[in-house]
Amino acid sequence: MAVAVWLAGCATASPGEQPTDGSVSVPEVDAGVTSPPDASLPAKRRIVILMVGDGMGRPEIEAASLKATGTRDGLYMQSLAAHGSVRTASLSGITDSAAAATTMATGAKTFNGRIGQDRDGQSVQTLVERAHAVGMSAGLVTSTSLAHATPGAFSAHRDSRHDYVNIALDQVMTVQPDVMLGGGLRYYLPMGPDSERDDAGLITPLLSAGYNVVYTAQELAAAPLEGKLFGSFADEHLEYAIDRDGDTTEPTLAEMSLAAIKRLDHNEAGFFLLIEGGRIDHAGHGNDLARNVGETLAFDEAIKAVHEWQQTSDAEVTLVITADHECGGMTIESHSGSAGDLPEVSWRWGNHTNARVDVFADGTGADKLDGLVIDFTQLHAFLAGRVDGVASVQPPRVLTPDGSFNDLRYAVSTQTAVTGFGEGFNQLDVLHVDADANGIAVGVQGVFEWSSNALVVLVDVDYGAGSGLTSFAGSLNDNDGRVDSILSSLGVDASAIAGFGADYALVIWGGQDPHLEDLIDDAGLRGFTQPSNLPWFGAATNFGEGVRTSGNAATSTAGEGFETVIPWSVLYDAGLPANATVAISVLLVNDDGGYASNQALPPFAADMINPGRGSFPLPGVAVIPVDADGDGVVDADLTPFVDF
Ligand SMILES: [Zn+2]
Repeated sequence: MAVAVWLAGCATASPGEQPTDGSVSVPEVDAGVTSPPDASLPAKRRIVILMVGDGMGRPEIEAASLKATGTRDGLYMQSLAAHGSVRTASLSGITDSAAAATTMATGAKTFNGRIGQDRDGQSVQTLVERAHAVGMSAGLVTSTSLAHATPGAFSAHRDSRHDYVNIALDQVMTVQPDVMLGGGLRYYLPMGPDSERDDAGLITPLLSAGYNVVYTAQELAAAPLEGKLFGSFADEHLEYAIDRDGDTTEPTLAEMSLAAIKRLDHNEAGFFLLIEGGRIDHAGHGNDLARNVGETLAFDEAIKAVHEWQQTSDAEVTLVITADHECGGMTIESHSGSAGDLPEVSWRWGNHTNARVDVFADGTGADKLDGLVIDFTQLHAFLAGRVDGVASVQPPRVLTPDGSFNDLRYAVSTQTAVTGFGEGFNQLDVLHVDADANGIAVGVQGVFEWSSNALVVLVDVDYGAGSGLTSFAGSLNDNDGRVDSILSSLGVDASAIAGFGADYALVIWGGQDPHLEDLIDDAGLRGFTQPSNLPWFGAATNFGEGVRTSGNAATSTAGEGFETVIPWSVLYDAGLPANATVAISVLLVNDDGGYASNQALPPFAADMINPGRGSFPLPGVAVIPVDADGDGVVDADLTPFVDF
């Protein structure tokens, strides 16, 4: 499949051709509704169904397919007409379900943990609310608790995903999706031994608001087709599919999906429905392959049921299937080739990863997603356009630490010297920078070895003013933690570059990818104000597709690599100063920081062998005049340059 990148800011430019005037062009994205409606035909109902496999990365899909069919591409979802990819990162770095779902639901990029709120904590209209605003019905179906992150982000506005009691309150008292089917009964029941609430609960308000309320699959099957419907079938999450007994009272995800559609399909204005296969993620966190595969197959069964219904509908139906993130870092190692057998897999860890996920689609406008690499703001724009029945509008560019920097406008420095630290394992090729109202982004195209060597990004926040560290050797002596030790061993001398002094350094050892909110020993941002106890700060970091490796040499990919976004609030605690000018330099050093490679951006002279141990001159810095016009606001148009 040829994959085009839906560039934020310019739909047709290649990375080198993006506008440099700072303007962000906002072309209309054709969502399949470009021609004016034919007035002679009755207006069709619009139906938009988004199905999210929580934690369902590409390996998870392939593992389930291998189990079911013996091939990697045999799932029902993989047969749908349109197929693209999604970059999932949030403003925190690797996303969680709350931030991913919030961006899908609202279009606002946000920090991990937020439910229906943007980066400033402001509530933003969700697709459920948008559907209601245009007269559509709306529903939520999930195999997790209904108050969990994904359904919550479409139907509540809270600053923490863990505020289940109040997420449930928002759902029932304020947003009122017409159908809600899932688990999490203990967040809705009145105060008592089976409830997390300390009030009269939400069941009575649901009944007062006209909901039919059911608790078992049998009651769901017998529930009236008219009216609103609330079904909660488990105290917390529904059972894993492979753990269901024959006498379970829980409906399947497919049964809940069809039950929701039956109720919502009465509305002449159409409906929006979110369906979540929510427990793929839970099995991913546990590196539990059998349950992971079982959940993906149950999700695929629901997709098949919905898609078969779609074929019978006379409405304009848009069906989109995607995931919020991969979970576990699954790699398929081998498979017997026989359906029924699980593959052999390995896992990176028990957490989410930054791997791109798939998007599959069919129905009205689906072709507009085919072959594209998008992010969740663009997916939201597409879905919102379908809810509104208009062409969607390209959302504005938001600097996001996603390891993919076609959206960074300035490639300021390129290195051609072959790395002295192992070609295909440790190389720094191109330095990209950009800045917006929220912070500065630095992207390094290159290849990075897992659990080996360290990337050092020196940051001068007042280039030209002379403050900060120029000669590192002997200046720092903090050996408590790997990053601090690396900086204390660094032999770099920047005194030949007039006006440069490092105020901060971001160090990433061995391909670590901490979130903005993580403060860890092996990676992160440090300041130099206390040389024997370096202060720690937050910076969101991430790596793109296939740029980290161990064992096998990797290939440098244009626009993919290491990326960080450092908030201005970290670099300037008194606010962005007028005439702010930032300078940066990127170095690659060994595990203890005491031995420097020949890889740097801006680069050393092309014939430089590794500087090695001891003092060595900083080869140059990239200077970013952030506020050249001195008005205290980040300029729309930056003119970065290299100072040797
Ligand atoms: Zn998770």
